[in-house]
Amino acid sequence: MTAGTPKPQVDTGKPHPARVYDWLLGGKDHYEVDRLVGERLPPESKDGARQNRAFMHRAAAWLSGTGVTQFLDIGTGIPTEPNLHQIVQASVPAARVVYADNDPIVLRHAEALLVSTPTGSTDYIQADVRDPQEILRHARTTLDFDRPIALSLIALMHFVPDDQAPYDIVSSLVDVLPSGSYLVLSHAASDIVPELSDKVVAEYAKGGIRLGFRTHAGVSRFFDGLELIDPGLVTAPAWFKDTDAPTAEMSGIYAGVARIP
Ligand code: SAH
Repeated sequence: MTAGTPKPQVDTGKPHPARVYDWLLGGKDHYEVDRLVGERLPPESKDGARQNRAFMHRAAAWLSGTGVTQFLDIGTGIPTEPNLHQIVQASVPAARVVYADNDPIVLRHAEALLVSTPTGSTDYIQADVRDPQEILRHARTTLDFDRPIALSLIALMHFVPDDQAPYDIVSSLVDVLPSGSYLVLSHAASDIVPELSDKVVAEYAKGGIRLGFRTHAGVSRFFDGLELIDPGLVTAPAWFKDTDAPTAEMSGIYAGVARIP
C-alpha cells in the first residue's frame, strides 16, 4: 500500500463475503446489507465461521513450528485478532507474510495487517485469486520463492464456483512453490448436512454472491499430488496437531494441510 492512496470504495448497497463473515464472527466491520444476509443464514453458520477461524489459528501455529518462515495468505478477511502474522511471528519473529483479498473493505483495514515485528515483514495486496499471476508478481517482492512458503486459502475457494476454474487457479499457485512448501485450505462442505449448505448457498445467491460448496472428494481434489498431513482432510474441529484433543463438534467445514513434495 502506498501512502496517499485514495480511500477504497466500499459498496454498502450490496452484501460482501468478507463483511458477512465478519458479522458471523461477531465483528463490527459490516453494514446492514451484510447483517441481513447473516440473519437469514442457518444459526450453524456462526459455528462454521468460528470453527474455521480456530482452524486457521491452529494450522498457522503448527506451520510456524515446521520451520516455514514465509506465508502467502489469500482471502485474508477483515483483520480479526489474532491475525495470521501475529500467530506466526509470536514464535518466528522474522516470519514474512503477504496477505491478499479482493474486497475494498479489507484494504481499508489493512493497516492492522501491516504491523510487523521489526525483523519480520508483512505486506498486503488488493487482488483477486482468479488472477493468481498478479498475486504471485506482488508476492515475489516480499517472499523468496526458492525457500518454502505456506500458501493459505482459508474459506476462500468456495467463493470460486466450478465455471471459474478453481482447480487451475490453485494449481497455478501451488506449482510455483518449492518443495517443502505447504497448502493450507478450508472449505464449506456440500455433503455433510446438504439441507443446511443448500440454504446457505441460496441465501448468499439472493444477495448476489455465488458460492460453490463442495463434497469431500471435490475439496480433496485441491490437494491432488500433494502429501496430506495427518489427520488428512477432516472437518475443521477435527484438525489438530497439538496436545489438545480434537472435539467431536459437528461442522460443515472441511480443513486440511498438505506438504508440497
Ligand atoms: N481467510 C479468512 C477470511 C475468510 S472469509 C478466515 O478464514 O478467517 C473469505 C474471504 O475471501 C473474504 O475476505 C473475501 O473478501 C475473500 N474473497 C472472496 N472471493 C475472493 C476472490 N475471488 N479473490 C480474493 N479474495 C476473495
